[in-house]
Amino acid sequence: MVNFCKECVRLRVQKYWSKDIEAKRKKERKRGRRRWKNHEYKEKRLEYQRKYRLKNKKKVSVWNKIQRTNIIKPKGCSICKKTIKELEKHHPDYNLPLDIIWCCIPCHRKFHRR
Ligand SMILES: [Zn+2]
Ligand SMILES: [Zn+2]
Repeated sequence: MVNFCKECVRLRVQKYWSKDIEAKRKKERKRGRRRWKNHEYKEKRLEYQRKYRLKNKKKVSVWNKIQRTNIIKPKGCSICKKTIKELEKHHPDYNLPLDIIWCCIPCHRKFHRR
């Protein structure tokens, strides 16, 4: 998640947990109990984790590539049009890595306050 702005990630996590939090917790607990039932399951889980990690790594590298090659940093905030050096990236949609809004810190805050 190197390229996500911290605020975006935090928001996403918050959204995930605020949605029927009890149901999710129960699910996690169930999973945790099953985890130690037998060795076979444990091994399967490890295998899955390994695979998942690999997949995740690939995803991140694609993100990095796209961002490195296609993103041109503007001279100023694209919201308030102020010319400023310290710009932050805001991701309105995580499925569209190229959909980025460059904005100054105060404008970025406004996005997350909504
Ligand atoms: Zn701004
Ligand atoms: Zn953001």
